[in-house]
Amino acid sequence: MEYLRPCQASDKRFVGRDITVSGDGFDSVIPVPDGLVLCDACNQEIEAGFLLYLGDEELAADQPYGAFCSACCRDYYSEAVRL
Ligand SMILES: [Zn+2]
Repeated sequence: MEYLRPCQASDKRFVGRDITVSGDGFDSVIPVPDGLVLCDACNQEIEAGFLLYLGDEELAADQPYGAFCSACCRDYYSEAVRL
């Protein structure tokens, strides 16, 4: 069962992140501005959206699969349980 939990871009989980891009023999670490959250489906910036959890274990461990805007949750995860 999938779950959707409301989130805000200002949540502390979105502070101090970075992305590592691996190339042929090198890695580049790119800092992500605090509070910048893009929908994992449509790439639109999210101020208020949802975290998707793929199951009970992921929900209990607070390990979301990703963050999604309201429109993508409606279009792709309409059967997920909203918390
Ligand atoms: Zn979206």
